[in-house]
Order: sequence, then structure tokens, then C-alpha cells
Amino acid sequence: MDSLTELHKEMRACRLCLEAGHEIVPGAVFRGSAGAEVLLIGQAPGVTEVEAKRPFNATSGTRLFQWLGEAGWDEDAFRARHYMTAVTKCYPGKDPKSGKGDRVPSKEEQALCRPFLEREIALVRPKLMILVGGLAIKLLYPAKLKLNEVVGTAVYFPPETLINPVNFNFDDALPVSVIGERLSVNG
Ligand code: SF4
Repeated sequence: MDSLTELHKEMRACRLCLEAGHEIVPGAVFRGSAGAEVLLIGQAPGVTEVEAKRPFNATSGTRLFQWLGEAGWDEDAFRARHYMTAVTKCYPGKDPKSGKGDRVPSKEEQALCRPFLEREIALVRPKLMILVGGLAIKLLYPAKLKLNEVVGTAVYFPPETLINPVNFNFDDALPVSVIGERLSVNG
């Protein structure tokens, strides 16, 4: 039987991208446990995240927790209570073209890592997923939507529509106005 502990072991040991020839630094970065009400998905860890083994550890964390702070979440409480992961879980290295910023994981790396993300979502079964950045948004929102149409928005899925919690049917989404009435997530 699939368990989150077993999945975490597999992710930490995973070398799929290296074996496929991608220049990543192995050592999956994620944090959280089953029962988390919020599951936050970023793009991929940076170098300081790998060293600290903590998602959103440095500059990206400062920015993220500014946003979450505006929504009433305290950083320490959020990190202790909720689940943080990424589209791809190993550091992809610097962008070879610019030398600045981190390389965006390729489609193949995203595909190799996707089963881990799907299993995380299925095992944690969060009430709320927060997608941070274009890569995470594009994975779960319909491709036809433009990024600027999605950023800052929220959709709600009634539990009865979540037969498969990963492959949502966006036709089932309810307007954002019902979220406050139907969803309660502890901070
Ligand atoms: S990014 Fe994902 S699929 Fe690639 S090596 Fe790391 S854990 Fe494995």
C-alpha cells in the first residue's frame, strides 16, 4: 500500500532525471505530513533549499511569506502545519543561457516528476492547493487560460467532483464567492 513515508523515501532516492541526462542536483526537497490541509506547489527548489532541505528557504521564501502573511498566515505555523512541494523536486541548476536565476525544468523533467506530485496530492488530500508560479499553475489549470487570467484567482471543487483529486475537471469548479462559505482551513 502507498504511504507518504514510502513516497518520501522514493523521492529522496530518485535519480530519474540524472539517468535521463538532465543536469540536476539530486536530493528532493519537500516538507510536510499527511493530514495537511494546505498543499503548496512551487516550481523547483533553489540551491539554498537543497542545502537547508527546506522549501522556499531564502529569497523566494521571504516573498512567499509576505504574500501569505497578507492572507493571515504566519510563516512558522504554516511550515509546521502544511505541506510544501514543487513541480520538480531537485535543484535544476543555474540557467545556462543567462547564468542568472535557476533553470526552468524541462517538460521531460516535469513529466518524470509528475507521478510523485500526483501521489503526494492523493495521499495528503488537502482542502486547499496553492500554486506558486507559472509552472505549477500550468500543470493544473487548463492550458487555454492565460497566466494573467489565473494569477490571484481561486476556484472551488465540491468534494463529490473530486473522484481523482489530481485530474480535475474545471467544468466542475464553482465561483470564488462560494469559497468562504464552504471551505475552512486552519492557519
Ligand atoms: S526532479 Fe523528480 S523525477 Fe527528477 S530526479 Fe528529482 S525527484 Fe526524481
